[in-house]
Amino acid sequence: MTGAAVTILEANLMGASCARVCPVEELCEGACVLGADHKPIEIGRLQRYATDHIYERGVMPFTAAPPTGRRVAVVGAGPAGLTCAGELAKLGHEAVVFERRELPGGLSTYGIVVMREPIRVSLEEVDFVRRLGVEVHTGVEIGRDVTPESLLEEFDAVFLGAGLGGVPALGIPGEYLEGVTEALDFIAATKLAEKDGLDRLNGLPLGRHVAVIGAGNTAIDAATVARRLGAERVTIVYRRSESEMPAYDFEIAFIKQEGVEFRLQLQPLEILGRDGRVSGLRCARVTLGVPGPDGRRSPTVDPTDEVVVPCDQVITAIGQEKPRALIEAFGLESTLGYAAVDEALRTTNPKVFAGGDCVRATGHAMTVTAVADGKIAARSIDAYLASLPVRSALEGTR
Ligand SMILES: Cc1cc2nc3c(=O)[nH]c(=O)nc-3n(C[C@H](O)[C@H](O)[C@H](O)COP(=O)(O)OP(=O)(O)OC[C@H]3O[C@@H](n4cnc5c(N)ncnc54)[C@H](O)[C@@H]3O)c2cc1C
Repeated sequence: MTGAAVTILEANLMGASCARVCPVEELCEGACVLGADHKPIEIGRLQRYATDHIYERGVMPFTAAPPTGRRVAVVGAGPAGLTCAGELAKLGHEAVVFERRELPGGLSTYGIVVMREPIRVSLEEVDFVRRLGVEVHTGVEIGRDVTPESLLEEFDAVFLGAGLGGVPALGIPGEYLEGVTEALDFIAATKLAEKDGLDRLNGLPLGRHVAVIGAGNTAIDAATVARRLGAERVTIVYRRSESEMPAYDFEIAFIKQEGVEFRLQLQPLEILGRDGRVSGLRCARVTLGVPGPDGRRSPTVDPTDEVVVPCDQVITAIGQEKPRALIEAFGLESTLGYAAVDEALRTTNPKVFAGGDCVRATGHAMTVTAVADGKIAARSIDAYLASLPVRSALEGTR
């Protein structure tokens, strides 16, 4: 079993997270060669069993190469940053990770619902990467506590694995009423509550009738958690139709079974309040036009046809903020608000590399794609470091 786990971790340092969070129906199990006549091999469950085996026994199967004297700063302790740092450490480079939050692990720690991945698993992965020799500093925000200039001066290369930001504001009246919560804060509170052994949310009130605005995977997760925590009614409010929902089909089918309701083709106009608290969501009906380049039909709001969705809590899940501030702080070029990179994950500064959600302008952002980016970037950084002039013995000692 140790051998199986080593093979998995050689390919994927976040193998324990991926075993739990990967949409295997769409990826490996969906592509299983047993074909349509057989049940696919349960790759996710096998991977979980093997990686649990090695973590439970505290096995460290890797030995780092002798130190090269090169130092790399990694911004963000999510799957992309941790993978890049771990792979660099294996190659003998000193990798130092800076993470702005209190706990490392990125969305594996704070964002992926607890039924899929408890915080314990992502913290075990962080510990494994630390045991490879990686330094992880939490509570340090690059751009606030440490300047990009000082990182560029102090380190031989920098990897940006900073992910994306919080849920953007809706821009409608009522969004600052008590009872309006953004989905990522809501999910993070449930993760921390589980870690602290509590069966209730850490001070975060849960409504009886929760309206979730949005229909991506985050909206589905927030709706599932709200329902499981005991909300009597949970309603997903989305401005297009079911076929246009960004969430995976199997997730939509799942939350229907959980009793989550859908109010489709509704555009929120205002969050209504009574005594400072949410009392409903005023929406206009939407008609759908012809499909755009992404295949989704464009919505047209009918301002004369309004409905109120009754609710006492609104959870917003309309995507995540782009990492514009960090890209600008490093003076990098961007694509649609994401860091612009080439196939080797080089940015427009030869010393700076980037990967994970902060570069994923197109395609599905997943843990496994962030891990793949971390590996690709580590190889590119290694090649870049090898191309640098050899330092004198004096320069090499800091
Ligand atoms: C609610 C939700 C559920 C999801 N569920 C799944 C799932 O089930 N399966 C799946 O495969 N994927 C899922 N994903 C996607 C997956 O979590 C991400 O694709 C993955 O975590 C991206 O990794 P990353 O390292 O690029 O970014 P992140 O995980 O976001 O990590 C980035 C880290 O950088 C830190 N950071 C940012 N700026 C700075 C700064 N200036 N200084 C220091 N640190 C900084 C952040 O605090 C964060 O810890 C989900 C995403 C969300 C939002």
